[in-house]
Amino acid sequence: MHNFHYKNGKLFCESIAVESLAQQAGTPLYVYSQKTLVENIRRLETAMAPVNPHLCYAVKANASLGILSLMAQLGIGFDVVSIGELKKVKQAGGKTEQCVFAGVGKTEEEINAALDLGIYAFNVESIPELERINRLAKKQDKKAPVAIRVNPNVDAKTHAKITTGTYENKFGIAFEEVASVYQKAHSKYKNIHLKGVQIHIGSQLTNVAPFAKAVKKMAPLVTQLRAEYGLEFFSIGGGLGIVYNQALESGSADWWHNEGKNYASPEKLAKALIPLLKPLTASGVKVLMEPGRFVVGNAGILVTRVEYIKQTGKKNFVIVDAAMNDLIRPALYESYHQIVPLKKSRTEKTFKADVVGPICESGDRFCQNREISEVKEGDLLAIMSAGAYGMTMASNYNGRPIPAEVLVNDKEADYLRIRESIQTSWRYEGIPGWLIPEEKTLPPNKRKRTPKNKKENI
Ligand code: PLP
Repeated sequence: MHNFHYKNGKLFCESIAVESLAQQAGTPLYVYSQKTLVENIRRLETAMAPVNPHLCYAVKANASLGILSLMAQLGIGFDVVSIGELKKVKQAGGKTEQCVFAGVGKTEEEINAALDLGIYAFNVESIPELERINRLAKKQDKKAPVAIRVNPNVDAKTHAKITTGTYENKFGIAFEEVASVYQKAHSKYKNIHLKGVQIHIGSQLTNVAPFAKAVKKMAPLVTQLRAEYGLEFFSIGGGLGIVYNQALESGSADWWHNEGKNYASPEKLAKALIPLLKPLTASGVKVLMEPGRFVVGNAGILVTRVEYIKQTGKKNFVIVDAAMNDLIRPALYESYHQIVPLKKSRTEKTFKADVVGPICESGDRFCQNREISEVKEGDLLAIMSAGAYGMTMASNYNGRPIPAEVLVNDKEADYLRIRESIQTSWRYEGIPGWLIPEEKTLPPNKRKRTPKNKKENI
């Protein structure tokens, strides 16, 4: 559920008309509801309370400094996949000792930095990585906290590009090998502190059955590793799906009880998993969860302005000022986002159209042949449920600056990020000295350096 709704025909985020934000901050603009973010965290915690999970927010879903700060203030931990994310969590006031560090390609630099900062655990994805962490921890005379990411070979039944828990995927160590890897690590790697196991079978799971299948498969292994090595935690990863086509009327809660009942939810997840997890927690195992999309997906929208309505012989195109560089999900995964006007027309007329961005790619499209509200040039539209994997994947493609982001808190709103200027979008680029007419006759060490902070010529 979320806190975007129509009041007197205008789309509101909590108590603020979204149109007023777009007028001040311009478009394309991401708008987030703080209330929704908090409610989503609390809802997950409440549903799963019988196993008292420690939530580690998956930073990759939305890494805005302000949102990380909110998560830190809610007292939860973080799931990071790079040293960049870990440092950003710290900058936002998060505790690094509440962070798990996942990812198949951790570099030596990243491992060393994470050891320096002190994290809760590395989620280790391969034996070479385990060896590397052990070697680097030894150099620092430390014991690195480690969980093995297990690939349980369970199909999450989600989009192929966000399925992570089968043997077709690059993630984790095969389920059958984990006991022997644990044994080897225990006897051989003296600078490893074996703390846990972790799974993450995929993202946007709209059915809880694959979660239950994976946890059921893992439970005996967790029990065994607890008995043999004192395993401390079992992370069940993230992946809980969201509903991308919710009703926006104030009665949207009814929608949840009707159409929404077929979707996965924290309550359904709890019903399926608590009986499986309870015996583990009773034996002292701590449960971790790494939600990303569920927390932030429905908490954010992308606001865009209609530039042109174009009619070809065959179709209608609504050309907007947002593009795939701002929100790549439809182009990347053919994902669905509800698209609604900020101001409802009195006639409520609709027409069939593609809503497309200005980028020179046919895939730069937010919907295709969809019946949408009739719109005209200058109208503002909201691309709903854009809070997760939207801004974090934004780029400068086609020379487009990264959009602005605003957070709403009831009647207040403030920038999470101001709009990038065109000049700052190329701030780290430079022109090699021999291509600068007034410099090219100079010897390399006498040439001007661009960008200015570049230390030396290669
Ligand atoms: N944990 C891990 C290891 C992940 O790879 C991901 C996403 O890919 C998540 C958690 C978060 O997933 P979601 O946003 O679907 O909750």
